Amino acid sequence: MEDCIFCKIANGEIGSLIYENEYVAAFDDLNPQAPVHTLIVPKKHIENIEDLQIGGGEGCHHNEEKNVICDGKYIKEIFKAIKEVAKLKGVSETGYRIISNCGKDAGQTVMHLHFHLLAGKELGEKIL
Ligand code: AMP
Ligand code: ZN
Repeated sequence: MEDCIFCKIANGEIGSLIYENEYVAAFDDLNPQAPVHTLIVPKKHIENIEDLQIGGGEGCHHNEEKNVICDGKYIKEIFKAIKEVAKLKGVSETGYRIISNCGKDAGQTVMHLHFHLLAGKELGEKIL
């Protein structure tokens, strides 16, 4: 999508990626909140979890014959990428936290689905 900063980063127009495949990309957060703070995003412009299509409708890119919209492939690839990034960053064993802000009350500032991977220190038990 034009004028979406994460679309531009995910498509390699700006910035640098630490991981990518056909469906997803990962890059370090500009304003890190932990020693490891990486964002994992789909290459397709999906606003947030509410905008994810999980079955039903037209145009499923990976099940076209059934004519079902389904972002399932992106969801699968996002979680594969999370595990891959954790390995690349050396935090698979020590652990990490995944956060995805969805909408106004969550404070979502970039309207392109993204998963924060935070790690590299003890993050504590509290989420807020
Ligand atoms: P959220 O509040 O979940 O929407 O988080 C957006 C995140 O994107 C913040 O942690 C920002 O620091 C980060 N961010 C914004 N612009 C960029 C950018 N150009 N490159 C990397 N991270 C960015
Ligand atoms: Zn986008």
